Amino acid sequence: MKTGTGIGTGTGIDYDKMGLKAGLEIHQQLDTRTKLFCKCPTTLRDNKDSTYSFIRYLRASKSEMGEVDKAAREEESYSRTFLYKAYDSTCLVENDEEPPGELNPEAIDIALEIALMLNMKVVDEIHTMRKIVIDGSNTCGFQRTALVATDGRLTTEEGGVRIDSLCLEEDAAQKIETTGTGNMVVYSLDRLGIPLVEISTAPDIRTPEQARKVAEQIGMILRSTGKVKRGLGTIRQDINISIEGGARVEIKGVQNLRLISEIVKNEILRQRKLIELKEELNNRGARVEHRIEDLSFIFKDTDSKVINRAGGKVFGACLRGFAGILGTELQPGRRFGTELADFAAKYGTGTGLIHTDELPAYGIGEAEIARMRSVFNASESDCVVIVAVAERSQGEKALRAVLNRAEAAMRGIPEETRRALPNGSSAYMRPLPGAARMYPETDVPPVEIDVQRLKAIGSRLPETFEHRVTRYKQQFGLNNELATKVSRSSNFNLFELIVERYGGKGVSPTLVARTLTDTMVELMREGVELENLTEQHFIDIFRLLAEHAFAKEAIPDIMRFIASKPELSVERAIEEIGLGVSIRDVERFIEDTVALKRDFILEKGERAVGPLMGIVMAKYRGKVDGKEINRLLKTKVQQILRGESDK
Ligand SMILES: [Zn+2]
Repeated sequence: MKTGTGIGTGTGIDYDKMGLKAGLEIHQQLDTRTKLFCKCPTTLRDNKDSTYSFIRYLRASKSEMGEVDKAAREEESYSRTFLYKAYDSTCLVENDEEPPGELNPEAIDIALEIALMLNMKVVDEIHTMRKIVIDGSNTCGFQRTALVATDGRLTTEEGGVRIDSLCLEEDAAQKIETTGTGNMVVYSLDRLGIPLVEISTAPDIRTPEQARKVAEQIGMILRSTGKVKRGLGTIRQDINISIEGGARVEIKGVQNLRLISEIVKNEILRQRKLIELKEELNNRGARVEHRIEDLSFIFKDTDSKVINRAGGKVFGACLRGFAGILGTELQPGRRFGTELADFAAKYGTGTGLIHTDELPAYGIGEAEIARMRSVFNASESDCVVIVAVAERSQGEKALRAVLNRAEAAMRGIPEETRRALPNGSSAYMRPLPGAARMYPETDVPPVEIDVQRLKAIGSRLPETFEHRVTRYKQQFGLNNELATKVSRSSNFNLFELIVERYGGKGVSPTLVARTLTDTMVELMREGVELENLTEQHFIDIFRLLAEHAFAKEAIPDIMRFIASKPELSVERAIEEIGLGVSIRDVERFIEDTVALKRDFILEKGERAVGPLMGIVMAKYRGKVDGKEINRLLKTKVQQILRGESDK
């Protein structure tokens, strides 16, 4: 086994040499008044408010190609039942008891606007198609999707990325839970039918960082329309990844932009490890024995709670020459054994998969391990895998899936769809869907896109990024670098708002732009939880700066403090940090100082201001703007010289 290849540290990887090819698929909910094919509102509901529910059993249907899709067939083999929760805000279209209406024109307009902003070619006529999905996420067994535009392009520092297509789609029903044995899946119908745009890039992305930047740019364009939904779950990214010698894998459901580069890195890691495992297994002459044995008799009086809880039946099989392989880590916190366990778990085996690489554990002792091995005549170089279940058929199905996956590891990396996990790794979901999934939706009439409609939308597009950069340079005097940074950042609206309000009150646009870009980056690197800072916090910071409540050098300290105590107002934060200097206090201190140094002032005249500055600044440096102190001091000194002071 090769070890210590250095991958996984995330540093020093030459992505060019690895032949990374990645593409993004971005799904964004549109903020329309009604759904894509009916007049129901696009609001999400609390599933406790469901007014009724119904049950469906879905079967894989043959597409026009006459073949049942591989992904669909696998889904069907789980034989699940689906329960749907309906609301007073959903109708018979969501229930699939009434045909869909016409495509929502408001959604089409937004899709066209986004297509034009991505420099895409819009189709002459929009045709709605059916895409098979039988995981139950759509009551009718397919998702409706309509191609709106093709052939767009984005530029990044690492090079151009083509945008293959933009489709208008209906969102799927939201999965609420899978019940105990895994046979019943509960869905909520409120989300079903909310219009989405699906934007797919070509596999032109070459580094993990570039993947994040492309997602960011597309996200910015989407938000700049002001017509997309915001907040958690309203935008979802899928990533297609392959490396030289690896396979195409689609990772679904990335909700956090910051995770994108991490997910790409971890998938590269997984594929490289799997390539190593394949070589190792072939060198060892490993083989998978498709012989499943009932091992329940070994565990009849077992102390293992895990096995007893699962229902008492245990089935096992032997992977010849696999010792140590299942314990090999593929991604942070995920071993090859975890990968196999994903397949067992699909069949509702509560315990997943237990293997001899990790035993003794789970209350399974040496005696039981020895008996397991003897059933298969397994040597030290073999690995025995077991599943604990309530029924024989469940155990056999789960093990068969595990054995097939183990065998595939000797041939290479299977193409598959995976689910993004919160730590940046991923888990198996289903095979990669084949091409035979689409066929025309005859219930929805095609929509012709006329030139006038397109022209009208094109004439009122939001400001492009390039235009904004130029404007910031001219209007606010930002340099090119800073204008570019703040224009690209998601805070550009906030920047404009603050400058508009406080720019005339002495707050410099450059300072605001630096704070919202460079300072944010620096604090993020320090690990400051910037997500705790709201737009209102920033507005208050610059309002108080304009009121001379503190000196500009203190801004990073204030941001750090508020990030740790977001419940405090900016005023309170300034007090608690000890910047809490009211201008009245400063005035008093200056009055006292001036009174004390009266003779000195009368002797030196206005030249006394310099030395007195030293005294006042010693107390207020970093808390009050020096210019402001100088101004106050001058006034007071002049008062004394004019004989206005009675002290
Ligand atoms: Zn409806």
